[in-house]
Amino acid sequence: MKYIVVSGGVVSGLGKGITISSLGRLLKSCGLSVTSIKIDPYLNVDAGTMSPFEHGEVFTLHDGGEADLDLGNYERFLGVRLSKDHNITTGKVYREVISRERRGDYLGKTVQVVPHITNEIQDWIERVAQIPVQEAEGAQGQVADVCLIEVGGTVGDIESMVFLEALRQFQFKVGEENFMLMFVSLVPVLGSVGEQKTKPTQHGVKELMSLGLFPKVIFCRSSQPLETATCKKISSFCHVPPSCVLSVHDVDNIYHVPLLLMEQNLHGIILDHLKLQAPVLPPDIGAWRNFAENIDKFTKVTKICLIGKYSTFQDSYLSVIKALKHASVAVERDLDLQWVEASDLIKPDKDDKTQPELENGETWETRELKHKEAWEMLKGCDGVIVPGGFGVRGVEGKIAAATYCRENKKPYLGVCLGFQVMVMEYARSFCDMPLANSTEMDENCEHPVVIFMPEIDKDTLGGTMRLGARDTLIEDFEGGGKSISYHLYGKKDRVSERHRHRYEVNPSKVSAIQSKGLHFVGKDETGERMEIAELSRDRHPYYVACQYHPEFQSRPLKPSPPFHGLLLAASGQLDEFIAKSENA
Ligand code: GLN
Repeated sequence: MKYIVVSGGVVSGLGKGITISSLGRLLKSCGLSVTSIKIDPYLNVDAGTMSPFEHGEVFTLHDGGEADLDLGNYERFLGVRLSKDHNITTGKVYREVISRERRGDYLGKTVQVVPHITNEIQDWIERVAQIPVQEAEGAQGQVADVCLIEVGGTVGDIESMVFLEALRQFQFKVGEENFMLMFVSLVPVLGSVGEQKTKPTQHGVKELMSLGLFPKVIFCRSSQPLETATCKKISSFCHVPPSCVLSVHDVDNIYHVPLLLMEQNLHGIILDHLKLQAPVLPPDIGAWRNFAENIDKFTKVTKICLIGKYSTFQDSYLSVIKALKHASVAVERDLDLQWVEASDLIKPDKDDKTQPELENGETWETRELKHKEAWEMLKGCDGVIVPGGFGVRGVEGKIAAATYCRENKKPYLGVCLGFQVMVMEYARSFCDMPLANSTEMDENCEHPVVIFMPEIDKDTLGGTMRLGARDTLIEDFEGGGKSISYHLYGKKDRVSERHRHRYEVNPSKVSAIQSKGLHFVGKDETGERMEIAELSRDRHPYYVACQYHPEFQSRPLKPSPPFHGLLLAASGQLDEFIAKSENA
């Protein structure tokens, strides 16, 4: 196994994850198989209990692992499927060592950070690197040629020290030609002459070196391409040849980064150091290049409204945005994503005690203005997505959006909470259940159409939802005719998608709702759990929602079917797509 370890310095949010996944993409284009491990030095066992507002979305893996969103970037760029063990946190490592200590496995020894924690980290890495990576649905997994390891945080953080120490030892354990360290740094531009500054990089590298770690490649994040003088300076101060100081400057879209790295011969540098033979040279990156370049070229625009709760913090919906992007490229449209805060869709009313109090200098007038703007956006867009979410805030706004889309034939995709919202809306409007709600929002509501799943633990939050991949069986519409989902999923009647929820459609309300025309065309294997709902196409161009999160399996060159459907409908191409599918 060849290991490439990447750490970062100066500041977080440098785009380290994108740089590493691009590096992986490049190696894949050389015909190598690649896996990856993300190290998060925080104490949480996993990201499942962390607020998306603070930490970005919780990326859900096939095996139900709740991981840092960087694992999503790896899956998308590398086209692989990772497991919960590919995300190592301080919490996980300590939990493992402490439970071993309790079992008496250390035979009376004093259990210490060095060597017990550092050994545990090294063993973990070696074990996980050997897990075969499955490249595609149903494909035989194989052990990768190269394992990428991203060390989260920045060099110098107290909490990442133990991981860096473990990796320092690890380089001797696996041997020099099997280990390559890289460093991602920031090269800021200061002053009126716009000089590129190298000091932060020098300090970062020095810090690493003092820990016994010597980077072989330095990635310099900068707004403009790295100047030759800057490159030379970094080279001479940081003990790497100029050819190994790479410019990772801002590009039109992130999909250009693998190309940028290829132009600077990163693959050559790696193959050389790791003494690796690549089956495909020069790298076969044509399809990826087309994808990256196409994105910049479309002239027609599709406007999609995302109705969220954390709409000021876009990382909370990272995979949803990526899935919309992938789908818009597939339908050859530029994506104009509009953010609507769900609670802004609710009519402000100072006498309504259920409405949130004014905050941050708000007045009832400014709230009224935001309300007006939100509705203008909703009315002016080509399609709407209501993504997953938790808690009561904004839910009535999402329901209002679902009503509007249904009545005005605006394409609508609901995901997880967006699915539950669609069902509540329908029950209120058509099924004599004006008080239809989810027991998540109102425990004692009169018409509970969405209820707590019986097998879920109410007392522990971490890792206790219905998590990970489950099969959905796709059926015809009641009364005949293939569902939209059937066509979108390439005429499959069984699909496997990832879940992350605690509530579900109340099985006892299903027949009442379906008899009024909202068709549950996807169910789990028992037939008890509702997974996909659709209106028939004679009633609405695209009114589709799913309990699962299809965004997690969307890939740049293989968009997620429900998202593809939304963009096809929003750009007026769905009829043609279905006709083609029917005749195929
Ligand atoms: N809050 C809802 C549930 O737990 C939806 C979850 C989600 O959208 N991920 O069922």
